[in-house]
Amino acid sequence: MSDNWNTRTRLVHSGTTRSQYNEVSEAIYLTQGFVYESAEQAEARFIESGPDEFIYARYGNPTVAMFERRIAALEGAEDAFATASGMAAVSGALMAMLRAGDHVVAARALFGSCLYVLEEILTRYGVEVTFVDGTDLAAWQAAIRPGTKAVFFETVANPTLEVIDIEAVSKIAHAVGATVVVDNVFATPVFSNAIAQGADVVIYSATKHIDGQGRALGGVIIATKDFIRGTVEPYMKHTGGSMSPFTAWIMLKGLETIDLRVRAQAASALAISEALQGHAKLNRAIYPGHPSHAQYDLVKRQMGKGGTVLSLDITGGQAAAFRFLNALKIVLISNNLGDAKSIITHPATTTHQRLSDTQRAALGITPGLVRLSVGIEDGEDLINDVMQALDAV
Ligand SMILES: *Cc1c(COP(=O)(O)O)cnc(C)c1O
Repeated sequence: MSDNWNTRTRLVHSGTTRSQYNEVSEAIYLTQGFVYESAEQAEARFIESGPDEFIYARYGNPTVAMFERRIAALEGAEDAFATASGMAAVSGALMAMLRAGDHVVAARALFGSCLYVLEEILTRYGVEVTFVDGTDLAAWQAAIRPGTKAVFFETVANPTLEVIDIEAVSKIAHAVGATVVVDNVFATPVFSNAIAQGADVVIYSATKHIDGQGRALGGVIIATKDFIRGTVEPYMKHTGGSMSPFTAWIMLKGLETIDLRVRAQAASALAISEALQGHAKLNRAIYPGHPSHAQYDLVKRQMGKGGTVLSLDITGGQAAAFRFLNALKIVLISNNLGDAKSIITHPATTTHQRLSDTQRAALGITPGLVRLSVGIEDGEDLINDVMQALDAV
């Protein structure tokens, strides 16, 4: 494996190990365990397990290890731990490093399950959590104090697509020795430079762009070898949230094409956002990669491109939003994102239904807001579909 390979080469070749048959496509090692040649070898393996010495699939597996090495290489990190879902990665990374009495500062605009882990679960075990407006650096500065153990935020918030400045928040956090943990799903692994910008731990729901074809749940925690093997692995291997070998194979195949897919999706997302500026049926068309986004300069600096998701605030509230969803012919009504198929979601009645009206209003989730995850279909077809559905509103 070569350190100087560029991204596309890493995505196809990094982390591959081959069996005695020298197969081209990555092998799926559907095995829970591994046979030892002697009792002495078994004993030695349990004392000191190196990266290539497998014991039990909950601890590690050759197909899973290939995925971990490939995503670590893409992110420019030392190591990674693959998990059963994105939420196993978020909860695992936080639970592994925190203990009663610790203090965490988190952005308020979070994916519902991330909010539940921080607000309901961690606090149950004596962790103190302070929530801030993630885009307000003065609020981070005021909340982070000597002894703060970790900060947590989504680098691009769902579904309002506000962007949090990784470099600036990391600087504030590192001044008191806090670990910076980011959920980087909306930025995508393709447009991420999070570790170079200061993040210590990068988390993806692999269910989204890494699979990218709606087949499997998965997640991954990416960090230093010390954090992954010293802190994350002992927690994950004893609590059981590891990724299955079959899922790891799906995710490896997803990584091979992720750069092609996500760049095509982002190009179509930009084209749709351009076509929609000033549309009479919209209060707002929000896309981080369009110059009209309030944090466009930060987006360019931090991600380069705007990602694969747009949010549209349709005039006329929920009834108009529902008419829009129901009139779409190509775009599917569902709640995944990053998929090859374009998907539309009405957050107020689905993903953010649990919140009160006041909470939704505070997060900018209006009754007319819809989240459009742009797929790999023909961009012109997608623009036409969105336009004809807006006509029907
Ligand atoms: C989907 C998602 C998750 C959870 O991932 P799962 O694979 O569904 O468990 C966490 N954070 C963000 C930002 C997500 O979009």
